[in-house]
Amino acid sequence: MIYMDHSATSPVRKEVYEAMEPYLKESFGNASTFYSLGREAKVAMENARKSVAKLIGAYPEEIIFTSGGTESDNIAIQGIAYKLQSKGKHIITSSIEHPAVIETCKGLEKKGFKVTYLPVYENGIVKVSDLEKAITDETILITIMHANNEIGTIQPIAEIGEVAKEHKIKFHCDAVQSVGKIPVDVNELNIDLLSISAHKLYGPKGVGALYIRKRTRLEPILYGGGQENNLSPGTENIPGIVGFAKACQIAETELESNVAYLTRLRDKLINGVLNNIEKSYLNGDREKRLPGNINFRFTGIEGESIILMLDGKGIAGSTGSACSSKKLTASHVLKAIGLEDADSHGSLRLTLGLENTEEEVDTVIKEIAPIVERLRSMSPIWNKDDSLWKDNTKKCDF
Ligand SMILES: *Cc1c(COP(=O)(O)O)cnc(C)c1O
Repeated sequence: MIYMDHSATSPVRKEVYEAMEPYLKESFGNASTFYSLGREAKVAMENARKSVAKLIGAYPEEIIFTSGGTESDNIAIQGIAYKLQSKGKHIITSSIEHPAVIETCKGLEKKGFKVTYLPVYENGIVKVSDLEKAITDETILITIMHANNEIGTIQPIAEIGEVAKEHKIKFHCDAVQSVGKIPVDVNELNIDLLSISAHKLYGPKGVGALYIRKRTRLEPILYGGGQENNLSPGTENIPGIVGFAKACQIAETELESNVAYLTRLRDKLINGVLNNIEKSYLNGDREKRLPGNINFRFTGIEGESIILMLDGKGIAGSTGSACSSKKLTASHVLKAIGLEDADSHGSLRLTLGLENTEEEVDTVIKEIAPIVERLRSMSPIWNKDDSLWKDNTKKCDF
């Protein structure tokens, strides 16, 4: 199989698995107990905290372990909102955030908070001037992602952080897609809170971290045994945490060469497909995008059908839109970059990872063209002759 869906999740690296194994076997202790087995777990966890902190230029005391990116986003956004609500109830975010951020903001709107969703324009990037205009005396939090999970665009986080700092507004960044993939330093980027997830950087699923800058206070949203500074209570996931730390260490040492490798594969795949197929386009900014991210759009066909046919050839990719049982919902990200409904259903996301090879890229370039051609020949909305294609607002009802 050729796996090109690393933005959804990545395989666990061999070294990560090996680092975790002892903690699933003999060293199974509870890190909150005081006999030697528990202390061993505690030591492993505190060493892990150092590795995660180091990758993003933080102090170990500024890291709490969580169950993943979703929990980190919730703890950060709700934690700041409830802590600072007496100062104001306005939050600023972007229109292309991950559901873990958007849905948290929508939940807060139901509790009386006001949320501004900044536009991103055709290139998929927010304008700092829009942010500045959106700030009011009531603004308590800015939450904007570093790199987008669908179109891979990278936001001007350092400038956004600068604006937040000038106005003394807390700044949270969902960096789940960027940490370990491109350089991330919480001080250079002026970030107060930052979310990470292990399974997007070759670590295990179900573990992540939240960076919380010193002296930043959060209202807890979960209650329990008080672990992780009372913010992420529950028995610590030591095997997961140890694996996560190993993944961070490897990501740090390999960062530069991995960026170069994935950028080369990405550009080869983009150029190969765009040159081979008429009316094919790249969604999102060409330059300011993650090294491994590709998001194509093919006029006249639906993303889901390409995914299924690629799957038949042993190639795993994904689409920006998710077809729920009855209706096809267009991706909010593709809508935000201005695509019409039909266009936003014709996207193909291929996200590359370290185990992908140049030969695999060649294979994928070769396989996509005939699939697109075949699907277009069956498409009711593709009219090659007048090279116009009609949005007949085709609905997904399978
Ligand atoms: C995957 C992802 C999340 C959620 O992380 P989980 O660990 O799966 O909960 C949040 N934000 C972004 C940008 C992501 O890509």
